[in-house]
Amino acid sequence: MSIENKVVVITGASSGIGEATAKLLASKGAKVVLGARREERLAQLADSIGENAVYQVTDVTNRQEVAALFKLAVDKFGRIDALYNNAGIMPQGNLSDRDYDRWQAEINVNIMGVLNGIGEVLPIMQKQQDGLIITTDSVAGHVVYPASAVYNGTKYAVRAIMEGLRQEEKNNGIRSTIVSPGAVRTELSKTIGNANVEAALQPMFDAPQEEGLTLAPADIANAVLFAIDQPKHVAVSEVIVRPARQE
Ligand code: NDP
Repeated sequence: MSIENKVVVITGASSGIGEATAKLLASKGAKVVLGARREERLAQLADSIGENAVYQVTDVTNRQEVAALFKLAVDKFGRIDALYNNAGIMPQGNLSDRDYDRWQAEINVNIMGVLNGIGEVLPIMQKQQDGLIITTDSVAGHVVYPASAVYNGTKYAVRAIMEGLRQEEKNNGIRSTIVSPGAVRTELSKTIGNANVEAALQPMFDAPQEEGLTLAPADIANAVLFAIDQPKHVAVSEVIVRPARQE
């Protein structure tokens, strides 16, 4: 089974890992349906891909907008072979900061955003008796970092949710894949929102790839392609991709 002509919905497609994945999958013949909030970036990306890409402004915290993105995929391309739940933010800080608004925002995007994707796509995939749901988790879903408890908490939660999804849907033709990157050079550091943590982490995000301390977004796109490009009897449950020298 090949990636060619597969219909793949990607959230967080306007930059970083999502953008690189859209480009890679489209270059292999997939049809990509792009969602995020920044319309200009989505339009540019869709334009660069051509007729195999469509986009719709989508805030993953809004269930109706997520449902509308999936409707666009089905109306335009007839089905959804894979959903890539990739949108995420990474606010950082100590729990003693008591930053309730940012905690809520992080939980809304990183957990509820994934649940909105799963919840709205499952009826479509159950009807098809076929589909793959991929979610970007993180090494931060395996190890807790300083000043990162809430981000880590969202990523641990997503891993649990995806494992539950695997168990519940494995007999319905629906597979699931967790993709857990280490440090990737993207715009994610702009969402840290804490000057001290940003100063500590930015050198890691800026480190040249050749030093083996960061990955390119395309390195993660390769893992997504690997998961999608498997025959139906193969479920890639989790892929962890670290820069070679990351702890
Ligand atoms: P980017 O900041 O480049 O991409 C994040 C994407 O998420 C953007 O397209 C952004 O688009 C989108 N997004 C954010 N909030 C929302 C929202 N409410 N609704 C819809 N889309 C939203 O960073 P990455 O590519 O690095 O991040 C992608 C995923 O990878 C995240 O889940 C992140 O946690 C994870 N990850 C990243 C790592 C890294 O080192 N970079 C390591 C491990 C995991 P827009 O603002 O236009 O809505």
